[in-house]
Amino acid sequence: MEISILGMNYAVELYDGLAREETALGTCTSDALLIRIDKSLKPDKHNKTVFHEIIHAALFELQNDKAARDEKMVDNIALALYQTLRDCGALNMDSLLLKNPSRV
Ligand SMILES: [Zn+2]
Repeated sequence: MEISILGMNYAVELYDGLAREETALGTCTSDALLIRIDKSLKPDKHNKTVFHEIIHAALFELQNDKAARDEKMVDNIALALYQTLRDCGALNMDSLLLKNPSRV
């Protein structure tokens, strides 16, 4: 799956064991245009993590590296956006759920 973030096409991949290897539920590598999400996450946690990594990517693309590395701020913005869009029905949850047979 790819997500266009400020015009840049980021590949989004499910990764088995990411939380164990990186001690993170997701990672964003702007140089490689790659977002990885731990494969074992339940749908709601998965979606929150996708939003979190999108905010990282957006801030990197805006060349605001200091903000992009501020985990608390990134998490707060991601959570506020995710919950607002989800709760008002403006979010297509299916589009955030990557292909994963365990969720079918
Ligand atoms: Zn983060």
